[in-house]
Amino acid sequence: MLPEEVTEYLALHRQEHLEKLFEVLRFPSISSQSAYEADSLACAEHIAEHLRGLGFSAELHPWRKHPIILARSTPEIADPSAPTVLFYAHYDVQPPDPVDLWTSGPFEPTIRDGAIYARGASDDKGLLMSCINGCEAFIRTVGRLPMNVLFFFEGEEEIGSPELEDFITATADDLKSDFAVVTDMGFFAPGFPTIMTGLRGLVYLELTLNGPSADLHSGQHGGAVVNPLNALAKMIAAMHDETGSVTLPGFYDDVVEPESVELEQWKSLPFDEGEYADFVGTALVGGERGRSVLERRWSRPTLDCNGITGGYQGQGAKTVLPACATAKISMRLVPNQRPEKVLDAFSEFVSANTPAGIRANVEVLSRSRPFVVSPDTPAVGAVGEAMREAFGAETALARAGGSVPISELIQRVLKVDPIVTGFALPDDNIHSPNERLQLEQFHTGAVAAAAMLNNLAGLK
Ligand SMILES: [Zn+2]
Repeated sequence: MLPEEVTEYLALHRQEHLEKLFEVLRFPSISSQSAYEADSLACAEHIAEHLRGLGFSAELHPWRKHPIILARSTPEIADPSAPTVLFYAHYDVQPPDPVDLWTSGPFEPTIRDGAIYARGASDDKGLLMSCINGCEAFIRTVGRLPMNVLFFFEGEEEIGSPELEDFITATADDLKSDFAVVTDMGFFAPGFPTIMTGLRGLVYLELTLNGPSADLHSGQHGGAVVNPLNALAKMIAAMHDETGSVTLPGFYDDVVEPESVELEQWKSLPFDEGEYADFVGTALVGGERGRSVLERRWSRPTLDCNGITGGYQGQGAKTVLPACATAKISMRLVPNQRPEKVLDAFSEFVSANTPAGIRANVEVLSRSRPFVVSPDTPAVGAVGEAMREAFGAETALARAGGSVPISELIQRVLKVDPIVTGFALPDDNIHSPNERLQLEQFHTGAVAAAAMLNNLAGLK
């Protein structure tokens, strides 16, 4: 159990921790816009300085446009022979647009109705600070941390962590850890602390079909040549069969079903398909027949067309037979699918379905692997127990349909199973106007982070 003085400290220092968080939230560390590069750097420096004040050796590693903060506990605050946990979070944020929909300024943190409103409050600065505060409580009361802590705070998560694999590979020796906790997620529902045991991977590509050498008059030439848009529509339609399954050759070959304990857990989650249908505003008939909605969102791979362009898109009619047509297509991958193999299957399907008179081209825009940890992993139990101690409710095991690229990299490159969790709530409006983090989630999150240190240290 967590030493009482640690929880007491966190209860007594709520106001101070809130002010510290506000300082971090005031930096517009928007990673996608170059105008904010100096603000991002200042934000990283501010966090590093705070960590130095607590006894960490904190360094900024220049990386692409926004530095990575690496901060390690020094021998003054942790026994160097104790095991190490790597905590990952990110300090960059999404642009606040549309700004006029915010009730208070996105970079002027404000408390309303028991929540902190600001861009980055929930994703991910609030969680980042909860983890630091959990450490602070140990340092200021017990005098030292129960184990070594290595903070890995990234500044480009919101733009997809480009080239992060290169950084992790190059610094793998420095990043060596016994455990890793990724705090960039949240509760499945209020009152349901959650560990994500799986995330889907992604292949994103652009498929272009080229036909005639230039746009043609659809009256003069229609009927004589193959229309690339017609061909593209037909090809995309053929990518699913009537049961909702993807028809690419061998697409499902490497798919591993979730463990039965996971499937049981999912059934016990507070998830109502009717309410979810209301939330998304349409009937839940997409995806594979015979699979639950949560399976279709979490443990089954998908193929979706994200946009089609070609021909005339302006006002009114223009009788054109387009020279080319393009579709953006995303595929969400699940364990143990590999992006390379799925891409081969995609290309094979395209060549087999390209009609005479059409040339096809596939351009890959991004790819990432899926991620999964076994629910039996000891660290899953230790972190789950820490969340239960702090929040007073059993920790649920769930998955997420999206990706946090670092998770799979930590597992594959650093050979540590990361525990993906967090203190956000589903209605925190992340990436949207009026992003918020409930005060209680922020403060109790620090208790949970402290309990994680305590419990993980007990595993070795
Ligand atoms: Zn995030």
